Amino acid sequence: MHYYSLGKQSPNVDFKTAAITGQAPDKGLYFPSEIPQFTAEQIQKFKTLDKASLAFEVMRPYVGGTIDDAALQQICAETINFEFPLVPITDPILTLELFHGPTLAFKDVGARFMSRCLGYFSKQDPSNTTTTVLVATSGDTGGAVANGFLGVAGVNVIILYPKGKVSPIQEMQLTTLGQNITALEVEGSFDDCQAIVKEAFMDADLNAAYQLTSANSINVARWLPQQLYYFFAWQQWVDKYENAAGEYPLMDVVVPSGNFGNICAGMIAKASGLPLGHFVAACNANDIVTRYLANEKYEVKPSVATVSNAMDVGNPSNFVRILEIMQSNYSALTHALTSYSITDADTTSTIARVYKTNNYILDPHGAVAFVAAEKYLAKLDDAKIVILETAHPVKFPEVVEAAIGQSITVPPSVQNLFEKQKIAIPLAATYTAFKNWMLKK
Ligand SMILES: *Cc1c(COP(=O)(O)O)cnc(C)c1O
Repeated sequence: MHYYSLGKQSPNVDFKTAAITGQAPDKGLYFPSEIPQFTAEQIQKFKTLDKASLAFEVMRPYVGGTIDDAALQQICAETINFEFPLVPITDPILTLELFHGPTLAFKDVGARFMSRCLGYFSKQDPSNTTTTVLVATSGDTGGAVANGFLGVAGVNVIILYPKGKVSPIQEMQLTTLGQNITALEVEGSFDDCQAIVKEAFMDADLNAAYQLTSANSINVARWLPQQLYYFFAWQQWVDKYENAAGEYPLMDVVVPSGNFGNICAGMIAKASGLPLGHFVAACNANDIVTRYLANEKYEVKPSVATVSNAMDVGNPSNFVRILEIMQSNYSALTHALTSYSITDADTTSTIARVYKTNNYILDPHGAVAFVAAEKYLAKLDDAKIVILETAHPVKFPEVVEAAIGQSITVPPSVQNLFEKQKIAIPLAATYTAFKNWMLKK
């Protein structure tokens, strides 16, 4: 197994190099040279395998021998060390709750896997080079990455977040850890933070001083483990719906999508033999993929702000990987994937309606998926479908509490945060300010 750059101008690398460098020198995303093919017997075995062993079986071919089996087994077991329950909301719509990890968002799995891989590679490295992870966050990524990398030897993490534009819980999750985690509070927007990080990766002076990598879903070590959700959902689906003859309806999945890393991981799971049905990408007003699937025109626009802000992406970075999985066959793509763009008004009214009718509290991203599921089901007879609930509603209290008309119970893991001290370094929103700070450290 090796990884090639979708930019096609860089040499092939192994999993280790792809994870340490994040992006290829030609700025292309790395893609696996072959998608592993699980046999029917393996899939049969997967139905009842414990989560840690399943995670190991799925990830092993992608890691391609760069991590020894015993270490990879431990990395996998630690990565998925919490629940992923499949819960019915209505009769036809079930939700896979991906918010039971330490920072209450699905990004925990990718961040935990990636951090442990980098920790392993760092221990193997005789030159003792410290890797510096640079990450810009609009909210959830920063907390998950900070939590995943906390205390990992040989890795320092620098998080840039826009001052006043992340929720209080999100801010505490990334500013209270200390140790090898540094938070920079940027006097600007998320776009400013992202522009600084992008420029840093291209800066010869910084690259001479630091071994820099990215912890966004462009990094294969963060992107690929997300496919485990689909295996875990499928195990529970089969357990619920398989009949005595061993038959069950294929599971269709609705994924709230921004950078399209999560849904793309699901599509690679299907391409490797996991029997899944159709994919539905649920988008907010940032509808570039919805429009592409309707008219074959890929038109990038600046992102617009919505109530499901983790999906406010104008140019989804992982969509090129979906095209690669589908071998750029537009007709095959439209048969595998449907997309709906959902308004903020429908998102908030759905949070209110589902709470009232079904006594279930959706977060804004899950609500976007719920509306998309209803639209998709309207075309089918008697079908059931799974939506991915990507964050706990308590992370978006303004939107959710206004919709349901009452406050949300804060889980104990989050209550403790407010007893801790916030430590963040203020930074002007210019690249020069960031570079000067980095070179003075
Ligand atoms: C990051 C995020 C998304 C979008 O996931 P992508 O892989 O970027 O498509 C959706 N919901 C929440 C809560 C997120 O944090």
